[in-house]
Amino acid sequence: MNSIFDYVFFHFQRLYHLPSPLEVSYGLDGRSRVQITPTSSAFLEGQQPHPGALVWKDWRGTTIPLFFDENIDRPWFTQDNQGQVIVHFDVVASAFYLLSGWQEFYSTERDEFNRFPYRASVQNLHGFITKPIVNYYLEILREAVSLAYGQEIKPRLWSGRPFATCLTHDIDYCQSAWKVAGKPALQQGNLQLFFRLAQQKLTGQDAWFNFSQVAQELQHLNAKGTFFFLPETDTYEGHPNADYDVSDPRIQKEVKRLAAAGHEIGVHGSHGTGSNPRQLQTEREKLPLPVSGNRFHYLRFDPVKTPAVLEELGFAYDSTLGFPEHYGFRNSYCHPFRLFNFKDRRMSPVWELPLNLMDVTLNHPKYLQLPPQEVLPAITPMLEEIIKFHGTFTLLWHNENFSPYGLKGGLQMFREITGFLQERQTGFFTAGEVIFQVR
Ligand SMILES: [Zn+2]
Repeated sequence: MNSIFDYVFFHFQRLYHLPSPLEVSYGLDGRSRVQITPTSSAFLEGQQPHPGALVWKDWRGTTIPLFFDENIDRPWFTQDNQGQVIVHFDVVASAFYLLSGWQEFYSTERDEFNRFPYRASVQNLHGFITKPIVNYYLEILREAVSLAYGQEIKPRLWSGRPFATCLTHDIDYCQSAWKVAGKPALQQGNLQLFFRLAQQKLTGQDAWFNFSQVAQELQHLNAKGTFFFLPETDTYEGHPNADYDVSDPRIQKEVKRLAAAGHEIGVHGSHGTGSNPRQLQTEREKLPLPVSGNRFHYLRFDPVKTPAVLEELGFAYDSTLGFPEHYGFRNSYCHPFRLFNFKDRRMSPVWELPLNLMDVTLNHPKYLQLPPQEVLPAITPMLEEIIKFHGTFTLLWHNENFSPYGLKGGLQMFREITGFLQERQTGFFTAGEVIFQVR
């Protein structure tokens, strides 16, 4: 049971300015200033993906689920006459269950890309994908500590900013706009457009070869972005990888130029690399500079194999964990967190920067199909949760969606979302900068 408490407590300590020394015990030891009542359930000693029935309990106007408690009539916590505070619900076990990705590791449900599907998740089954439930549990714990120590406990902020935003860009395609947009143009008899696209391509400036345009958008926000380059061109089991060769001097020049301007570069592990450390390392070494972060193409994270691959290669962070099918909180947490190594039952040294929203999710025929004007209203409740908990918002916007030949209204949507964040005083950071601040 200790590895469970240690894992949750590690993250708790990173959220708040806590009293030191701090006495919190997992179990009723009769001594510690805060004591958490552990569940009598043996679920976390087994290998089932989903606990049975869950219960819902109100916390300051929000109803939140508890996975390992039954009687919800008691208050969340009470103080006895010696000043000791007893938490009556096992928020530790519930937090561990969600944050560690337990359901993904023990479930055998997988989609065609060997990904854990959103439809099989407790977030979908119980409708809380846009609530960072683990943050609520830790807030309850904070209040218990606050009561026991008789002092207000402040959250950690982001270089003085109330919440962090991480703008990320996966570079899958940068030289085939002429083909993708040109073919329908030709079919529709729009020769003018076709020739313009072909001309751009011939002069070496395909409409998707738009790194300077993306950098300019970031410049307007006074932000630095994180660019994940895909160093594999061969298709994999019929699925496309990059349309460019990252060792091409033209691309290498762009990568170096972005890095010199203060943007961060990461590797975009190709299909299959989530279970193939040798291949992932080969790809990483094709980049013209050393990188410490990764995101997998198609968000292909194998819950059983991938954490060990990232750990073996010494990556500082990964930023794959978001559901492609839905925006929100895949691990029910709005801060970076350390992955959990189930095989060894310990915390992994690798950080996860959870992905909250990918552009593709918004209009892919298999995912959501939101018209552009409905996007910001739809995601605002999620953003409000991040703001409330002083968390991190990670956005993936592909470079082609800054051009007129990608997601319809893509550039406008990017500006609307980032404008909203700017109005709310966010701090823009690269992925590495975010991890550096929490670790
Ligand atoms: Zn990709």
